[in-house]
Amino acid sequence: SLKCGIVGLPNVGKSTLFNALTRAGIEAANYPFCTIEPNVGVVEVPDPRLAQLSGIVNPQKVVPAIVEFVDIAGLVAGASKGEGLGNQFLANIRETDAIVNVVRCFEDPNVVHVAGKVDPIDDIIVIGTELALADLATVEKAIQRDGKKAKSGDKDAIALVKVLEKLVPHLNEGKPARSAPLSDDEKLQVKSLCLLTIKPAMYVANVAEDGFENNPLLDKVRTHAAAEGAPVVAVCAAIESEIAELDDADKIEFLAELGQDEPGLNRLIRAAYDLLGLQTYFTAGVKEVRAWTIHKGDTAPQAAGVIHTDFERGFIRAQTIGFDDYIQYKGEQGAKEAGKMRAEGKEYVVKDGDVLNFLFNV
Ligand code: GDP
Repeated sequence: SLKCGIVGLPNVGKSTLFNALTRAGIEAANYPFCTIEPNVGVVEVPDPRLAQLSGIVNPQKVVPAIVEFVDIAGLVAGASKGEGLGNQFLANIRETDAIVNVVRCFEDPNVVHVAGKVDPIDDIIVIGTELALADLATVEKAIQRDGKKAKSGDKDAIALVKVLEKLVPHLNEGKPARSAPLSDDEKLQVKSLCLLTIKPAMYVANVAEDGFENNPLLDKVRTHAAAEGAPVVAVCAAIESEIAELDDADKIEFLAELGQDEPGLNRLIRAAYDLLGLQTYFTAGVKEVRAWTIHKGDTAPQAAGVIHTDFERGFIRAQTIGFDDYIQYKGEQGAKEAGKMRAEGKEYVVKDGDVLNFLFNV
């Protein structure tokens, strides 16, 4: 499954956030394919649609979608030169599919800031520069390697070097590869380099309890992120870690006091799922109501393949009910009678929330 790496300077609240994310815990038995390591958190994707489906179907079991977070320590200025845990840090980040940048937007004299003052834009620039410099080293190495082949007339190498040379000045300015002026085709050409700054990224602004409004630090982060086209989620890690300790009844009460209907982490988890390019379809039966994870744009056979490769290979069609129809007509029977159950074929691009039932050859 896909992973989001949580990065940020020391003391911004990464561990607090990571621990809150993983505290809720999951039933490992439901996810045998996930390796549980101390710095990897397997987190359920909160989705109110599961409760709506369960209200109709009354299943024995409900299985939500999951997403993995990796707590990646060790980012300091100079990481790209191997300072601190630099090399390990870069290797860990390379294995993730998207990057969650945690930046500090809370003042607290008791919590030391590594740079001496709280300025999330400085922090963003430090992080961005380290990652861009690491990519620059990767790109320069590739230029050397493929440059030789290019000189001997290798057409692919000539084309690749041309793309890489476009990246050099961009990365040199500390800008991410994802914002470089490359065509989709050119992006594909550099895919094998596994550049860090080509991965999708978002910001988590860690704010004080009362820091969601009238917070100039948060406003700065929002402005900066908007210019990059990156999403921002504001949370208070300290509060989230308190919420994560509570049982369900206390949780609801505490959230009500805060004037919230769900933990801020839910917003973060959904944003991360979206950042990874993922979406959900459902299967709904009395045994199990389940959320399945697919990529945006996946077709019905690809969606079937997430359940079992045989389903994809022998795919005939998908009985499909849109989520809203399923709820409005109170389940499969009602939707069918209302003419809302469609038979979709191999080309069908699954929509987020579709309730599917696959027919296949064995
Ligand atoms: P990391 O180094 O980025 O993993 O940061 P930690 O999660 O270890 O947090 C560093 C310190 O900041 C700890 O003492 C936390 O208790 C504190 N901290 C984390 N989040 C918040 C917050 O939202 N508000 C305040 N006031 N302190 C926080």
